[in-house]
Amino acid sequence: MTTHAAARPLENRRAIVTGASRGIGAAIAVAFAAAGARVLVNHAGSADDAAQVVGQIGGGDERVLCVQADVSREDEVEAMFERAVGAWGSVDIVVNNAGIQKDAAAHDMTLAEWQRVIDVNLTGSFLCARAAVREFRRRGTPAPGARTVGTILCVSSVHEIIPWAGHVNYAVTKAGVQMMVKTLAQEYAAERIRVVGIAPGAIKTSINRAAWETPRAAAALLKLIPYGRIGEPDDVARGAVWLASDDADYVTGTTLLVDGGMALYPAFRDGG
Ligand code: NAD
Repeated sequence: MTTHAAARPLENRRAIVTGASRGIGAAIAVAFAAAGARVLVNHAGSADDAAQVVGQIGGGDERVLCVQADVSREDEVEAMFERAVGAWGSVDIVVNNAGIQKDAAAHDMTLAEWQRVIDVNLTGSFLCARAAVREFRRRGTPAPGARTVGTILCVSSVHEIIPWAGHVNYAVTKAGVQMMVKTLAQEYAAERIRVVGIAPGAIKTSINRAAWETPRAAAALLKLIPYGRIGEPDDVARGAVWLASDDADYVTGTTLLVDGGMALYPAFRDGG
């Protein structure tokens, strides 16, 4: 039996992380860099936050790039990939993390609120996945020392499986991302391209500040988390490093829940 665990499991890998200016994306970018990867920090207009992440990684253009691009725009996604390929020769890992919420009861939800969440969370993930597959196929062979030709990691949510009243646009995009992971994994496995998902539960970031900011809100949220604590971005980042590394070489088409048990029907804890 051989083991591939290494202190720097992403050495020689070139990664794009979308929505990496804060929250889960920032934690993934920093963890990837610590694991040896070169990282492109993408953001949608929060240059100051992104610059902080770049500063935390350090090392100049050879190690870290910062690119503003709206993932829902085809031209901007293409330009982002051109920047990475121009600087580093290729890309090995793409993390589809950028995501937004625009919450409303379905009967009050505007078409614009519905459409924008689909454009960013679902279409954005598709555009980056398509650009990734095209680049992986163009290169055709793994980076030195790597097993996979390329890995696409989609940050989904427990709401790919848990229905979420008041958030139909968001929940539908995450269910769509789950099926995209499975379908693309099936489509490209023979070319040694892996497509995987990671589904966070409740993680302390700005996207859900109202759910954890006051003691009362946090107490209500904790009732939904059997493990008894709200998650941190690093909880997700550690799983992301593993999924992107060769330690997960035989893992494709599946999604890792990182949710403290949130998807385990906590209301049934006491026997239902
Ligand atoms: P966040 O709001 O803190 O960060 C979102 C990031 O996405 C930011 O960097 C933002 O600039 C970027 N972004 C937004 N629109 C973009 C666009 N059009 N193009 C490029 N970047 C864009 O949120 P977060 O909690 O860190 O969320 C990251 C991902 O994790 C999202 O996909 C979200 O759905 C998912 N998620 C979060 C939680 C949670 O509890 N925080 C739970 C499940 C899933």
